[in-house]
Amino acid sequence: MAKVYFKAIDSYLKTEEINASAVDMLRLIEEKENYKLNKYVPLKVHLGEKGNTTFIHPRNFEGIIEYLKQKGIDTAFIETNVLYKGQRNTVTNHLKVAEEHGFTRIPVIIADGEAGEDYELVEINKKNFDKCKIARTIAAEEQLIVLSHFKGHALAGYGGAIKQLGMGFASKGGKLAQHANSIPKINSLKCKACKACAMKCPENAIIVDKKAKIDKNKCVGCASCMASCPHNAITNSWLASLSRSFNERLAEYAYAAAKDKRHIYISFAFNITKNCDCEGHPMKIIAKDLGIFASTDPVAIDKACLDVLDKNEGRTVFKRGRYTLEYAEKIGLGSKSYELIEI
Ligand code: SF4
Ligand code: SF4
Repeated sequence: MAKVYFKAIDSYLKTEEINASAVDMLRLIEEKENYKLNKYVPLKVHLGEKGNTTFIHPRNFEGIIEYLKQKGIDTAFIETNVLYKGQRNTVTNHLKVAEEHGFTRIPVIIADGEAGEDYELVEINKKNFDKCKIARTIAAEEQLIVLSHFKGHALAGYGGAIKQLGMGFASKGGKLAQHANSIPKINSLKCKACKACAMKCPENAIIVDKKAKIDKNKCVGCASCMASCPHNAITNSWLASLSRSFNERLAEYAYAAAKDKRHIYISFAFNITKNCDCEGHPMKIIAKDLGIFASTDPVAIDKACLDVLDKNEGRTVFKRGRYTLEYAEKIGLGSKSYELIEI
């Protein structure tokens, strides 16, 4: 059974405790699971879209960086370009955001080339994909420490280690392949032509005349428009039969990203918002801070985050996206069964 280490920390403001606990997690995995760190171990992060205020700030990664340094291990922040327009769609733009968001202590590597064109094909032969496009510089590493922000996600339901692996390790083409068939639908009976969705769309894919319409040739399926509609007029294909398709695609990409690797997953369950750090604006916190989780199993850690969150809140916080766990377990990415070890 997979082990998931958990340190309850009730406030994101407790930076010192967060740093110390993240180091404790790493030590525990090394000791209890006989885990050997390589001489170079990059930290997979999400830099947060420009304007986002709830991403996990790199001040919380200082402890891990210092710990690795003391052990003589080189490290760097590593990330991939996003699919949609915005401030993180090329290396040049991405590095500007990295600096603005404080990711300056160690080098920042954008792993899939200037415009997301650089990837390695990883063969998996699963139901949706035979091969997956994993960002080349990431694919070259046998070991990464995957630092995830556990929170909601408009399309995936929730985002944690599997999302960080599946979407976060994919090159742009890989992200597009996962989003295929994810174009939202507009309910014209509910649409009031207010244009909120068009203003939110990073691809200018929504035209509003008497009603809103989506240009399928421009839409990249990012789902940003859905949360913006005040009249609930936008739904997505995944709400119907295609829902499972996106979750499966995400899980298969996560499988490719973890295939033949020995990653460590550390998830920061703070600033829990309904949507993800790709949203370039401040968002409302919807649940109390939980703390830090760590594991070598991406399925177990996500399941533990969801379980502890629901227990802490006394309700099911993220209702969608749980099928990702089922499917991820089915294809061999990890295990939903876990032992929670509180420290
Ligand atoms: S999903 Fe919505 S916001 Fe995203 S590109 Fe398509 S129309 Fe635009
Ligand atoms: S935000 Fe909703 S109501 Fe407003 S134009 Fe878009 S679909 Fe219509």
